[in-house]
Amino acid sequence: MGLLQPVLHYGGHWLVPFAFAFLVWREDWLRAGLVAALANLVDLDHLLAVPIFDPHRCSIGYHLLHGWEAAFGFALIAAVPRWWARALGLGALWHLAVDYGDCIMQGL
Ligand SMILES: [Zn+2]
Repeated sequence: MGLLQPVLHYGGHWLVPFAFAFLVWREDWLRAGLVAALANLVDLDHLLAVPIFDPHRCSIGYHLLHGWEAAFGFALIAAVPRWWARALGLGALWHLAVDYGDCIMQGL
């Protein structure tokens, strides 16, 4: 897979939230981008898994905050009419999308 996947992974997790925030919340993009990037903390659920990190495991459907129930909860958060709730909920959903892309690229 080489370099493409890690670049897409970390770029997707840490750069795209700011780019998205810049498109949606132009005046306050840095603050909104920080909140959206903060949604990457859903990865804290990895601490519950053994081993904590396994490059050959698909996070989606495995970890507590990487399942469809969690995605539903993130969608509810994103539906709250507050900018920070939208940034957080959409950021978390985006995080799952990036992780899912990893699984597809790895054929997991
Ligand atoms: Zn993740």
